[in-house]
Amino acid sequence: MARKSAPDEAEAEARAIDAEPWGPMAGMVKRQCPRCRYFFASPVDSTEPCCADCASGGTGPARIHAVS
Ligand SMILES: [Zn+2]
Repeated sequence: MARKSAPDEAEAEARAIDAEPWGPMAGMVKRQCPRCRYFFASPVDSTEPCCADCASGGTGPARIHAVS
C-alpha cells in the first residue's frame, strides 16, 4: 500500500509553486488587494485598487481571517 497518495504530492507541489513569487503576464501588473491581501494581476492601465472579488462584492465584508 502506498503511503504517499498522488493528491498529496500534487498538493505539495501546488503549495511550493504558490509560495514562489510569480510575475504577471505581459501588460499586467501584480498588485496586492488592500482588503483581502490577495495577490492579483491587473492591466497596467487599470486603476482598480482591489481584486476582482472585492471590486465586485465591495459592499460585503471581506473574507473572514483569523485576526490576531
Ligand atoms: Zn480583495
